[in-house]
Amino acid sequence: MLAMNYRGPYRVRAAQKAEPEIEHPNDAIVRVTRSCICGSDLHLYHGLVPDTRVGMTFGHEFTGVVEEVGPSVQNLKKGDHVLVPFNIFCGSCFFCKKELYGNCHNTNSQATAVGAIYGYSHTAGGYDGGQAEYVRVPMADVGPTVIPQDMDVDDAVLLTDAFPTGYQAAEMGSIEQGDTVVVFGAGPVGLFAARSAWFFGAGRVIVVDHLEYRLEFAREFAHCEIVNFKDVRDMAMHLKKITDGLGPDVCIDAVGAEASGNAMQRLTGVVLPIQAGAATALHWAINSVRKGGNVSIVGVYGPTFNAVPIGNALNKGLTLRMNQASVKRHLPRLIEHIQAGHIKPSEIITHRIPMEEVADAYHLFSSKLDNCIKPVLIP
Ligand code: NAD
Ligand code: ZN
Repeated sequence: MLAMNYRGPYRVRAAQKAEPEIEHPNDAIVRVTRSCICGSDLHLYHGLVPDTRVGMTFGHEFTGVVEEVGPSVQNLKKGDHVLVPFNIFCGSCFFCKKELYGNCHNTNSQATAVGAIYGYSHTAGGYDGGQAEYVRVPMADVGPTVIPQDMDVDDAVLLTDAFPTGYQAAEMGSIEQGDTVVVFGAGPVGLFAARSAWFFGAGRVIVVDHLEYRLEFAREFAHCEIVNFKDVRDMAMHLKKITDGLGPDVCIDAVGAEASGNAMQRLTGVVLPIQAGAATALHWAINSVRKGGNVSIVGVYGPTFNAVPIGNALNKGLTLRMNQASVKRHLPRLIEHIQAGHIKPSEIITHRIPMEEVADAYHLFSSKLDNCIKPVLIP
C-alpha cells in the first residue's frame, strides 16, 4: 500500500509499505478515506519528538471503512465508516473511567504521562498512523465511532482531533458568561477554540496570530476580533488596553512549541534555537490574562521545554488547565452542534491532496504556503 514515510527532519515521502494485519484479537483494519495533517505532525516533521523512527507513518486524524475485525471486536463490523479519535485508549483503566482518554494507562506508550497516539513516534506507542491506505486500529471496540449517516466525511475527520481539541481548550478556560477570551494561534485548533468559546458564553473573542490570511479567515469563521502580533510591541499592554485595563478573563494557547519559534524566526529573520523564541504564546497568555484569570493550554510542548516541565504537565493533565484532548468525551455534543447547523468544521479545509503528494503537503502546511489552513490527504 502507499503510505507516508518519515525519513528524517523535514524529509517525508510517499512509499510502498506492507499492509497492516490483525495483530491482536481487539484490532481492526481500516481502509482510510480521509487523513489530515495536524500542527502536531509538524513537531514530528521538525524532528522535535524523541524516538521518531525512520520509516514510521504519521497520521492521527483519519476516517475510514472497516475492512476486517479481530475475533474479540464486538462493536464494529466490516463496512462501517468510522472516525477514529487520535488517542489510542482502553476505555477501562483508572484514567479512561474518568474520561481522561488522552492519559490511558494501558497502551504501550513509553512516555510516563501521555497515552498512545496514532503515528506519533515510539514515545507515544510506536503505532503507525493513518496517512496511508490502510491502518491498524488497536482496541477497536473503544475508539472508533461510526460516522452518522447524514454527516459529511470532511466534517467527520475534523472530529478526530482539531474540533474536539479546540472545544476542550475553551472548556478548560472555564469561561463564564460575558468573558473576554483571547486565543493565541489561528491554526485549526485555535479556530475551533475561538468558535467554541461562544458555546461556553464568551462575550468577546479575540484571536492573535501573524498570518494575515489566517486572521482574516478567523474573523469570518469564528466571528471574532483579530490582532496581528506583528503590529503589537507589547502584547500584555495591548490586550490590557483593549480590555478596560484589566486584561482578558481567559487566554488560550493554541500554538505550542516550535510553531512560535518558527513564527519568531520569520518575523525577525534570525534563526533562533528552538528554546529561544519558543514559548512566546504561552508567555503572552500568562502575562496578558487578568489577575485571577484562566490560562488554558492545548499547544504541545516537547522535552526541550522542560526547564519548566510544561510538556510533562500537559501530558499528565495537571490542573493548570491543559491537556491532550479527550476526543471521545466531546463527540456526542459536537455531533449535535454539527447536526443542528451551528458549525461546519470542514470550512477550514483548504487543500485536498492525493497521498502520492504527501511530501508537498507537509511542505505546504509547515511553511504556511498558498493560504493553507488544513490539508487533507486522500488515499
Ligand atoms: P498550526 O501550526 O496550523 O497553527 C499554529 C498557529 O500559531 C499558526 O497559524 C502560527 O502562525 C501561529 N503562531 C505562531 N506563534 C504564535 C504566537 N506567538 N502567537 C500567536 N500565534 C502564533 O497548528 P494547529 O494544527 O492549529 O495546532 C496548534 C497546536 O495545538 C500545536 O502545538 C499542536 O501540536 C497542538 N495540538 C494539541 C492537541 C492536544 O490534544 N492538546 C491536539 C492537536 C493539536
Ligand atoms: Zn492532530
